[in-house]
Amino acid sequence: MSGSPVGHEASASPHWIELAVAAPAEAEETVAAALAACGTLGAWTVPGLVRAYFPDTAVAVLPVFDAAWREVAGESCPYPLTTRRLPSVDWLAAWRESVRPIQVTPQLWVAPPGAPPGREAMTPGAAVIWIEPGQGFGTGSHPTTQALLRWLDREPGFDRVLDVGTGSGVLALTAIARGAGEAIGIDIDPWAVMNAARNRTLNDGGRRLALVQGPLDAVAPRARFDCVVANLDRVSLGRLLPDLTVRCADGGRVGMAGAVVGDRERLLGTAARSGLALLDESTDRDAGGPPDGLDNISEWWSAWLTPDR
Ligand code: SAH
Repeated sequence: MSGSPVGHEASASPHWIELAVAAPAEAEETVAAALAACGTLGAWTVPGLVRAYFPDTAVAVLPVFDAAWREVAGESCPYPLTTRRLPSVDWLAAWRESVRPIQVTPQLWVAPPGAPPGREAMTPGAAVIWIEPGQGFGTGSHPTTQALLRWLDREPGFDRVLDVGTGSGVLALTAIARGAGEAIGIDIDPWAVMNAARNRTLNDGGRRLALVQGPLDAVAPRARFDCVVANLDRVSLGRLLPDLTVRCADGGRVGMAGAVVGDRERLLGTAARSGLALLDESTDRDAGGPPDGLDNISEWWSAWLTPDR
């Protein structure tokens, strides 16, 4: 099954509208919610200022944003708002354009929507997961994402999937493309959820993906999933593994990534104590050298496990 890049307006105009919201850190979630409601294509934030990007269409960004803010906060936006028109050579556009389709398996590609360079190499008939390069991690280029994508590709047809730290939504959307009945993507980062919401509109079956912003506790504790995937950092993985196991149905799968080879023994110990047995594992080198900030460690370690009960 392959999706089509529905509603991809960005390539239609050579310009962007940049909206700057001079909002304090405590208002960041409201800013993100209002932006999500009015269709920004990406945003970045520094203390006290959020900049968001919109396609340059006839629609005036300021009143649209203010209406979205009213909907979210019940009042007009109290923070200074400015807009300016930017040429397409701004950094966001340049980065977005640098993202190329990636082949994960013979039958699975992850690609930015539109007509990116390199598209002609894509295998006819392969599944394509369309991911808008945005604030959500997960364009498909990272070895940790790819390890989990390979397993999801190899074992299609899960009923219910839980994707913890969904980022761009790439794992959940892949599970859906591989026949999953429904998926929940959860992320503590509102910007990631916003990006995942955008990607949900780009992919067939996207309506089968429910998105939740918050920690794992925000998902009903009694809900059971036959596949739980989590691409997180090495510390969070150790901490959350028992809870991920509880949420996995008997005979299901728990996929984890984001740890490095040096974490293997510790995490396998935690997994065993949680009642998980190892089915498969993967060590993957970063294309660009060691993972950032981890000097002596050069390989990511990912695992595919099943409840041992
Ligand atoms: N699933 C995507 C993105 C992984 S990046 C992929 O595989 O490519 C990790 C994501 O997890 C980030 O978006 C981050 O905001 C989120 N995250 C980190 N800790 C989390 C936690 N405790 N609960 C939920 N989300 C978390």
